[in-house]
Amino acid sequence: MTQIKSKKAFEEANELFPGGVNSPVRAFKAVDITPPFIKSAQGAYIYDIDDHKYIDYVLSWGPLILGHSDEHVVDAIVTQAHNGVTYGAPTLMESDLAKIILDRFKSMDKIRFVNSGTEATMSAIRLARGYTKRNYIVKFNGCYHGHADSFLVKAGSGIATFDSADSAGVPEVLAKLTVSLPYNDCEAIKETFTQLGDQIAAVIVEPVAGNMGLIPGKPEFLALLRELTHNHGALLIFDEVMSGLRCDYIGAQHHYQIEPDITTLGKVIGGGMPVAAYGGRLEIMNEISPAGDVYQAGTLSGNPLGMVAGATTLMNYTENEFNEAATRLDELCHRIQAIANKYGYTIQVPHIGTMFSLFFSEQPVENFDDSKACHQELFRRFFIKMLDHGIYFASSQFETNFISMKHSEEDIQTTIKAVEHVFSELRDEDGK
Ligand code: PLP
Repeated sequence: MTQIKSKKAFEEANELFPGGVNSPVRAFKAVDITPPFIKSAQGAYIYDIDDHKYIDYVLSWGPLILGHSDEHVVDAIVTQAHNGVTYGAPTLMESDLAKIILDRFKSMDKIRFVNSGTEATMSAIRLARGYTKRNYIVKFNGCYHGHADSFLVKAGSGIATFDSADSAGVPEVLAKLTVSLPYNDCEAIKETFTQLGDQIAAVIVEPVAGNMGLIPGKPEFLALLRELTHNHGALLIFDEVMSGLRCDYIGAQHHYQIEPDITTLGKVIGGGMPVAAYGGRLEIMNEISPAGDVYQAGTLSGNPLGMVAGATTLMNYTENEFNEAATRLDELCHRIQAIANKYGYTIQVPHIGTMFSLFFSEQPVENFDDSKACHQELFRRFFIKMLDHGIYFASSQFETNFISMKHSEEDIQTTIKAVEHVFSELRDEDGK
């Protein structure tokens, strides 16, 4: 694959931005190649500045459930922009999007819009601490809840990709208030509640983890989190920034039939614009300023462009269409696994709803340690070859891939053909 323009662009970007990017995983460090610079996108496809076309399974890391530049979403944004980009005042657009979300997420009576998933989770734990008047937060190794200080303890996603357990710059006194435990481990969380139960403000979890690759929570583990938090007066926060509207038509809480006290959302609810939210039961949400004493604010929160993009996105696919896309993905995942086996490789392709990931592992992957033990070098070689064949997967095994409503059966078949080519090339190289 020629990358003449992307290489030049990346050299220049390296002079402008730390590591050449504005978010670490975009640097393609885990796979050690120059990232293609993207110039445009439409539906299921993205195009780079060297004129390569790719079937995109990243979709801006999840938000674009309708695919790129969906005409309804673009129209809504353009129409709104003509009427004003932002007012810093209440609008009907905020209420419209809120009503759509609250109608689907029965655990939430009220919602507050913010601009990123990081802001949502950061605000959610402040709210939990303010509401419970306690300090400890429990999270799980390999879960990523954005980059607020309290969460950068054994976090997944970019942090896992760069193999740094924690971030520099996080005060130790604060990090000590975050307890990070193995994911899907019932004994560890029981033990923690026995020791610290009356000091824990909240347990925050990705109910379907997407930031150490895709690892669905075990139903008994999530049910235990619900029970322990309830019994000890702590709050349960489901971070559904990624799993919301992706793991099923609603989210993980619907899939598992477990109601958290607070939910964080992002990605899909903004239709590609910087929108996120947190919401929960009335008595908890009424603690937020100006109704209550927990302060949280934002100049561009609930901004009109994001609100109309989100509402238009959510209103423009049906549950049926979602399930059809999930069925196409199911086929793709099974075929990838079968093709790998045919060529003498073992790959795990966990998938749920419209999310999936790829682990080169003989064993099922159930937690962060399992994920780190996978064959990263094989992933790297597979990834680069798939890119050469026009398939754009997430550039780290610790990330999740997605499909959109625009990924057609033809796109799936094209991908399957590429997978077949790539495994045959790997086999030839490995002399299998
Ligand atoms: N929570 C989860 C589960 C996420 O996957 C992410 C981002 O990928 C975040 C929080 C942070 O969201 P943002 O990148 O919008 O700050």
